[in-house]
Amino acid sequence: MADKPKVAVYWLGACAGCDESIVDLNETLLQLAQVVDIVLWPVAMDFKYAHIEALKDGEISLSILSGSVRNSDHEEMAGLLRKKSKLVLALGACACFGGTAGLANFKTKEEIFSWVYLDAPTVVNPEARFPQTETRVDGKVLTLPEFYDHVYTLDQIIEVDYYLPGCPPPPDLIANAVNSVLTGDLPPIGSTLAPRMALCDTCSRNKKKPSKMEITQIKRIHEVEADPDSCFLAEGIICMGPATRTGCGETCMKTNLPCRGCFGPPPGVVGAGPKYLSALTSLIKAEKTEEIHEIIKDIVDPAGYFYRFTQPSSILGRKKPKKQMEE
Ligand code: SF4
Ligand code: SF4
Repeated sequence: MADKPKVAVYWLGACAGCDESIVDLNETLLQLAQVVDIVLWPVAMDFKYAHIEALKDGEISLSILSGSVRNSDHEEMAGLLRKKSKLVLALGACACFGGTAGLANFKTKEEIFSWVYLDAPTVVNPEARFPQTETRVDGKVLTLPEFYDHVYTLDQIIEVDYYLPGCPPPPDLIANAVNSVLTGDLPPIGSTLAPRMALCDTCSRNKKKPSKMEITQIKRIHEVEADPDSCFLAEGIICMGPATRTGCGETCMKTNLPCRGCFGPPPGVVGAGPKYLSALTSLIKAEKTEEIHEIIKDIVDPAGYFYRFTQPSSILGRKKPKKQMEE
């Protein structure tokens, strides 16, 4: 009998939500386990680095990697799995675009370390010690991965064959993606395995969108009782639907929450942030600059909102340490 195709599942800088989504396949997961040989899945099974190292190059049919790349350990594991795999799937917003962790690119590594190890109210660190990549204890060397100055998307580190966004991606799209690999029914390399439309195109609230929308006031979702059927934007509530790919199953909408953009930009759009800004500004009803400022001042943390899941993949770049800024 031919060997079953090998599948690896691994988390890099991830929260395990993407793994949870795989677990949410429920019985389908048991059927899957009958037809594939899972060779790595830290959240569920006990395999070691050496098991993967011992495999031949390209021996794994599919590696499913979630999470962004923030340290040398993530980079090493991504590189090893790329070498051992025929196909790599970037699973979830973090792997595809950097995800929420990517907002850390608005801070420098020094600022993050200062807050976490010195300044946060619950920290007691009188000797101002920071984590080191090497420490000697009783003559032995202890090591930690190197924390990078930047959060990277997976494809900024290794070649990625397919993308499946979402935070986390819905189980049905994960099942479809694995099934496509098993049957060989795959779109061109580089494709995103999700519908090729914007969320607004499939949103049930679109029907109640007025033909001409004019925003005169920005409201936050907790400040109003949003109509459960109306378009959020028509009510002045920021909804990332116009700049986001559909495929999520509208889980946020169903709980009366606007889209935050975890599926990333729709096909053909380079950045969700600029696309959204352009959509939003075209809806703001104001004649004078001061009126525009008056309306947009109520957008709290615009960069954090418009780039919530996509900062590392955006053209924004990152905050430079002070010294480099001055050079
Ligand atoms: S995409 Fe969302 S669920 Fe998946 S690892 Fe990142 S933060 Fe967690
Ligand atoms: S802006 Fe949001 S609520 Fe309105 S149609 Fe688009 S996705 Fe739906």
